[in-house]
Order: sequence, then structure tokens, then C-alpha cells
Amino acid sequence: MRQSLIAGNWKMNGGREANAALVGRIAGGLAERPGAEVLVCPPAVYLESVARLIQGTAIRLGAQNLSEQEKPGAFTGEIHGAMLSEAGCEYVIVGHSERRALYGDTDAAVARKFKTAQALGLTPILCVGETLEQREQDQTEAVLQRQLGAVLELCGVESLARAVVAYEPVWAIGTGRTATPRQAQAAHAFLRAQVGARDARIAAALRVLYGGSVNAGNAGTLFAEPDVDGGLVGGASLKADEFLAICAAAQAQLPKS
Ligand code: PEP
Repeated sequence: MRQSLIAGNWKMNGGREANAALVGRIAGGLAERPGAEVLVCPPAVYLESVARLIQGTAIRLGAQNLSEQEKPGAFTGEIHGAMLSEAGCEYVIVGHSERRALYGDTDAAVARKFKTAQALGLTPILCVGETLEQREQDQTEAVLQRQLGAVLELCGVESLARAVVAYEPVWAIGTGRTATPRQAQAAHAFLRAQVGARDARIAAALRVLYGGSVNAGNAGTLFAEPDVDGGLVGGASLKADEFLAICAAAQAQLPKS
């Protein structure tokens, strides 16, 4: 059975006061309606303070990125996975399209980060997704296969028993343009089938999130699809009411199998 997961990716947004207000409102709203697993991923510098804010609430903590290095050392500006764990993180996003496009995270580097995250006790949320150009050229499945394949090759299918996958079409991220439930379902089913071809049991248990302009208005129909197990939410995760409505849409779904 797959329990829905809603992960809020705050990106490079927030501040001490704003974080406290946002987390307080989310925690208050969730207390009235427990159900789906809910995670927030603040900028690294706020992880410890947000960890304190969510103590005793249903909210869990994730990071937005980590170093691929398995051992700490002379890597200026990088953050070691064990530091994220120590700050209170259980999850870490790897391969977000903004990192792939702007910071040179290749498929191979993303796979190494995925491996390091697991080696250091973190659950990776692996982001995959095609650009608009790739979709228009009918390359969506080839791109997903390549991005997921890099992880399968380096870490093996067993690694996906301790991971989450997020399908995030690049053309839908931060654009207000969302994949239709049908497009999302097709991509999610394809990703699950890629895993299923290697291990049916792991595929059936794997949570595949949708990300790309999820909001209170579209979450319900997206999450109703059989292979959509929740969402990775950017912009809407910064607005408590909107984020709570998205969590409620996930909570309304029974666990899927
Ligand atoms: C994201 O950053 O992963 C994302 C999906 O952003 P948005 O919801 O703003 O499209």
C-alpha cells in the first residue's frame, strides 16, 4: 500500500519570521486532518530552525540538495548528507530540474547523489522529467528512461525500495501550466513499469509524485490517478491555505496499491 506524500519545495525562499508563520499555520491545519505524509524542504540554512518548529507536529523535514561526496572534507560550499540528517532531515531532493538545468547536475551526478543520500541514511526524492521540446519531439519516455536508468544502473532496483520518484515535466514547473491528469498518469505508469520490469514488488510499493504547478484547484484530479501518489509542490507550498488544500486532496485518497 502506498501512502500519499506531499512535499513542499520552498526553493530559495523564506526567512525566519516567514518560516515560523508558514509552519505554524500548516501544522495547525494538519492537526485537524491527519492522513497523508507531509514534508517541507526549506533552504539548507533554515533546516535546523524549521526542525525545531516542526517538533511535535506531523510535518517532516527534507533538504533540496546534497553533496555527492560520501565523506566530508575540502569541498567548499557543499553540504554533506550526514549534516542534513543531523539537522533533522529524513528526505533529500535529488535531480530537481533547476539543478539539472542551472547547476550542471548530470544524470550521472544525480545518480551519485542518490547513492550518497541512501548511504547516509536519507531517503532520496529523485526528480525526473522532460522539457517542452522533448515532449513535442515525442521523447518523453526516452528521457524518463534515461534519467531513471542512471539510478537503476548505479544503485540497482533494490535502491528504489527506499526512495521516492517525482515526475516533474520541466514545462510545468513554476509556469502555471500543469500536465493533464492523463499525461501525468501515462508518465507515472511508464516510470512504474520501468521499475516493474526489474522487480514487480518494488514497483508496486514505489511512491511516484507529480510536480509542476500543483495547486488547490488541480490537486484532486491529479491525485485521483491510480499511479499518482501525491505531489512535489513548489510555489503553492509557500502559501499555507493552498498547501493545506493540496494536503487535503491527498488525504482524501485511499492508500493505493
Ligand atoms: C518544484 O519546484 O518542484 C515545482 C513543482 O514547482 P511549482 O509547483 O512551482 O511548479
